[in-house]
Amino acid sequence: MFPDKFDYVRASSVDEAIQLLSQNEDAKLLAGGHSLLPAMKLRLADAPLLIDIGRIAELKSITANGTLKIGALATHAEIAGNADVQKYCSALAAATGQVGDNQVRNFGTLGGNVAHADPASDPPTVLVACNATIHVKGSGGARAIKATDFFLDLYTTALEAGEIITAIEVPNHSGHKCAYAKLEHPASRYAVVGVAVCLEMSGSTCKSASVAIGGATNIAMRSSGAEQALAGTSLDDAALNAAAAAIQADLPDDALMDDITFPADYRKAMSGVYLKRAVKAAIG
Ligand SMILES: Cc1cc2nc3c(=O)[nH]c(=O)nc-3n(C[C@H](O)[C@H](O)[C@H](O)COP(=O)(O)OP(=O)(O)OC[C@H]3O[C@@H](n4cnc5c(N)ncnc54)[C@H](O)[C@@H]3O)c2cc1C
Repeated sequence: MFPDKFDYVRASSVDEAIQLLSQNEDAKLLAGGHSLLPAMKLRLADAPLLIDIGRIAELKSITANGTLKIGALATHAEIAGNADVQKYCSALAAATGQVGDNQVRNFGTLGGNVAHADPASDPPTVLVACNATIHVKGSGGARAIKATDFFLDLYTTALEAGEIITAIEVPNHSGHKCAYAKLEHPASRYAVVGVAVCLEMSGSTCKSASVAIGGATNIAMRSSGAEQALAGTSLDDAALNAAAAAIQADLPDDALMDDITFPADYRKAMSGVYLKRAVKAAIG
């Protein structure tokens, strides 16, 4: 349970972190350390140099100015408790509030969570459902990546070597009914299956729906079948049953997560159950 030897340096700005990354090819960024350090202790990851970005003030802010902009170093607890997040994207407040336990929520950051791209993470599912954008910066400049294009595979993202996530931007969903519902692993509280929905309502009719699922497959993904099944309905039982069948059909068999505790068939069945729960939570 001890990591291999590594050097440590603390960066005081984003530009300094980028410079350090460009000078040390195999170095890793250290934010809250709640994914990287356990992986290093288990020898699943190693790095000759850790660049600690945890005290860079410019990465800690949460602002709401037309869109919600969350600095990469905002912790899950700060996001869950933030009034602007609760107003602009209640599903993200709900999801970050359900991450792990108090210690993980107080140290783990949204940027670290997104960069780590664990398929059982909660926030990526909401970010995919809510059309969020991941802002990154490297020595070649800054770029913006849609959340739907960011998560590529298990622990694999569109982040390129030398790039750092600076912020996560979420459109204003205050006029939508949004929710996140998850079946949590009883030990770690990671998502076995997590479903995020954002519903655009007109009275009791669902004008359009945005649905994403995580935990079930290698990455958080949209379910266009469920979105179509919900749109134009009053979200009655028939619509929910059709959407539950559609989300199961949308899960690619070759990408389903499968283990002895939660087999692929079980995760598939639960995706329909948790979709219904998310919709019901969204419309109250
Ligand atoms: C017991 C336990 C339970 C957990 N339960 C849950 C859960 O229920 N749901 C859930 O979603 N997560 C869960 N987590 C994971 C937790 O949310 C993540 O560990 C945390 O959010 C990652 O953020 P961090 O700041 O700790 O990242 P770190 O561990 O510091 O870094 C993780 C990775 O991201 C990279 N990185 C960090 N910041 C940046 C950046 N700004 N730009 C680019 N790369 C960066 C690092 O180099 C590293 O590769 C759990 C973790 C633990 C230990």
